[in-house]
Amino acid sequence: MKYHIIPVTVFTQNCSVIWCEATYEAALIDSGGDAGKIIKKLQQLNIVPTKILLTHGHLDHVGAVAELAVHYQASIFGPQKQDAFLLEELPMQSRMFGLEECVPFTPDHWLEEGDNIQVGEIKLEILHTPGHTPGHIVFFDRMGRLLISGDVIFHGGVGRTDFPRGNHQDLILSIKNKLLPLGDDVIFIPGHGSLSTLGHERTNNPFLQ
Ligand SMILES: [Zn+2]
Repeated sequence: MKYHIIPVTVFTQNCSVIWCEATYEAALIDSGGDAGKIIKKLQQLNIVPTKILLTHGHLDHVGAVAELAVHYQASIFGPQKQDAFLLEELPMQSRMFGLEECVPFTPDHWLEEGDNIQVGEIKLEILHTPGHTPGHIVFFDRMGRLLISGDVIFHGGVGRTDFPRGNHQDLILSIKNKLLPLGDDVIFIPGHGSLSTLGHERTNNPFLQ
């Protein structure tokens, strides 16, 4: 699996594009804003995504989804349906963050724990990891040992839980029971900031000690 990270919005959210080297099928993950910047980068990479995958419903992760889904005729997958309230409230979220009003949308497919998404020859496993939001999910490429973790875990940090329906205890349980068991060697791309490994965070992350 190949990937490229495009930082978007004033929150420097890591919009990832992943693609299969054999088939060139591609997916965008968490296209939070700056649709024009994303389109330009994908043109340079010569990539046309057929799927848009979402970890959770926060504005800085979904702001450009409606526009890009139309532009690429791509299907929208995720998050888990408990984040529906966030997608319904996108215009309100836009006002709260002082950003341009974002068009609300409904995903073509909600995702659940145990679901898989195929991108060419890449298989992504879905894990439900509530805490930052109730419907937060992560995407795991078991063969490639790569995790796309949204706002659950960061290099040296964990997701905020002071937003509506956030729960710190749930978040820590999600990390300890679902992410850490994937293996110390697993590299993760978080929603913000630099990449890390689960092993590094298991040992060093102050929120997991
Ligand atoms: Zn978030």
